[in-house]
Amino acid sequence: MRYRSTRGTGATLDFEQVTLAGLAPDGGLYVPEEWPHFSHDAIAALAGLSYAETAVRVMRPFVGDALSDDELRALCTQAYGRFAHRAVTPLAQLDERHWVLELFHGPTLAFKDVALQLLGLFFERFLSDRDTHLTVIGATSGDTGSAAIDALAGRAKVDIFMLHPQGRVSDVQRRQMTTVKAPNVHNIAVEGTFDDAQALVKAMFAEPAFARRFSLSAVNSINWARLMAQIVYYFYAAVRLGAPQRPVAFSVPTGNFGDVFAGYAAAKMGLPIARLIVATNVNDIVARALRDGDYSAGEVTPTAAPSMDIQVSSNFERLLFDLDADAVPGQMAAFANERAMRLTARQRAGAAALFTGVRIDADEMALAMRWACEGSGQVLDPHTSIGLAAARATELPANVPVVTLATAHPGKFRDAVERATGVRPGLPSRVGALFEREERYDVLPAELEAIKDFISARATSARSG
Ligand SMILES: *Cc1c(COP(=O)(O)O)cnc(C)c1O
Repeated sequence: MRYRSTRGTGATLDFEQVTLAGLAPDGGLYVPEEWPHFSHDAIAALAGLSYAETAVRVMRPFVGDALSDDELRALCTQAYGRFAHRAVTPLAQLDERHWVLELFHGPTLAFKDVALQLLGLFFERFLSDRDTHLTVIGATSGDTGSAAIDALAGRAKVDIFMLHPQGRVSDVQRRQMTTVKAPNVHNIAVEGTFDDAQALVKAMFAEPAFARRFSLSAVNSINWARLMAQIVYYFYAAVRLGAPQRPVAFSVPTGNFGDVFAGYAAAKMGLPIARLIVATNVNDIVARALRDGDYSAGEVTPTAAPSMDIQVSSNFERLLFDLDADAVPGQMAAFANERAMRLTARQRAGAAALFTGVRIDADEMALAMRWACEGSGQVLDPHTSIGLAAARATELPANVPVVTLATAHPGKFRDAVERATGVRPGLPSRVGALFEREERYDVLPAELEAIKDFISARATSARSG
């Protein structure tokens, strides 16, 4: 399998190269040259397999000859062995139609662990026989940062610099990042929003000299390997609910459009997905784009679901490219200049065939959280509750089960959950004594030169030349 950039220029890469690279040098995102196809029988054969074995089958065609079957199996077994539930991503039932897929049983309590635990192992494996020291830089609205730091802390040949918007992540999220002591971990609180932090990261990748000097790599969902790992749980859940005989719908709490794009990939690969519900909070750029074709950024409004508080949704570019590739470079240039662009007719029609965008406000979120708590005793986090509210607001054929992706453990957002339900969720013991440990991070202005200077002074690759 080879990968090309959504901006249409530059060489194609293999899986190992695309994993280490992250963002393409032309500013685009890597996508596979074609989608592998799983027949009805191949999907049926996934029934009853463990999560790790399902992961091997689903990811195999994307990985190509970068890893042997046995190597891939060993890495999946190691990554998913760290999850606190034997089913890795278990389904819980809310009523006769609604289910939640619990993606938060990893070490840092959000779905990001599912992909990042594996990505950390891919990095280590691919770097082991290279003379390269990677500098991973990322922007986080909370959960990517903690998951990436957990996955990379103490690993050889990697430094990680994680930018988070100062004061805009929850206490638990911040402490999960800033209390990690490994010397290869560097936390930066940026005086700005998540979008500012993400723009800074993109700007560093866009400077070839800087990117080369430090061997920059990405762990944000712009990294293809992350999306690939997320395709797995769509297959795993759908097969348990009757696929390939019965189609299944998914509702996905959405920010950067990575998780729901993995659902799109699963559908392209042949999984019978009746609908992908794109649930946003009031920061609804993607819901608007899907509804009106208007992709225009507003101001970020902080909400109880901070991991969805964004106005630029990077992975949306991958969808636009898949639906009408030729339009993308012009659209992205327009967006860079005016913070607005329009979808083409082909993009709108293609997206409407599978996606429904739904915007959920704070009251609707709280109502859904209470509905789940009172009706089935399930305590959901604010992000998941937004997904559930969107799922309940979407009309679907009666025989289609709807799976809401539970993207975070409620313990990660205890205050918001308590406000809505009166229940204060506990923190699972696997996160340890977060509130007793010392924090370590630097506060920097949202200015490119300041961030670059900081990284230059600390990255190991700089010291070794
Ligand atoms: C990252 C995150 C999201 C958004 O996922 P995207 O892939 O960026 O769309 C939703 N909920 C939680 C809890 C997250 O951490």
